[in-house]
Amino acid sequence: MSAFKDIFEGSDAYTAAFSHGGLSALPQARLVIVTCMDTRINPLAIFGLDIGEAHVLRNAGARITPDVIRSLIKSINQLEVERIVVMHHTDCGAAKIKLDGLRAAVTAATGNDPADVDFHLIAEPVTALTEDIELVRTCPYLPVGTAVAGLVYDVHTGEVRVEHETFVS
Ligand SMILES: [Zn+2]
Repeated sequence: MSAFKDIFEGSDAYTAAFSHGGLSALPQARLVIVTCMDTRINPLAIFGLDIGEAHVLRNAGARITPDVIRSLIKSINQLEVERIVVMHHTDCGAAKIKLDGLRAAVTAATGNDPADVDFHLIAEPVTALTEDIELVRTCPYLPVGTAVAGLVYDVHTGEVRVEHETFVS
């Protein structure tokens, strides 16, 4: 019995009803959304978007890591995207978890201390979003003038709050 039986069945049903074979790989809204992996966030639905309209880059905390920068560079320079949204959210695990506890949990489960892993935890949410926007705004591999927004999604109300609107410069 596969550990993935449920999702394979879901895939079969999706394939049976599939109707998106004609989509372009270029995001039609010319938008990339960086957000958290939190299950309560549906990045396309939040903005009234559908499949084919935006790139979505996700990690724990919606942090601007080197790998997110790598994908942003491709999105903007190769795939015709012109707008970058960085969307943090309320009640984020990356802001609630403490590094000591996380390292202890990993060590207890695996026998190995992840001392060499940068978890990009959030000490202070307002500061963290500002830092992430600054990393994007000042990235030398993104064209000057690319629009950048820093948003916070409220997981209890579905509302998006605009904290930053700026341009790569
Ligand atoms: Zn989160």
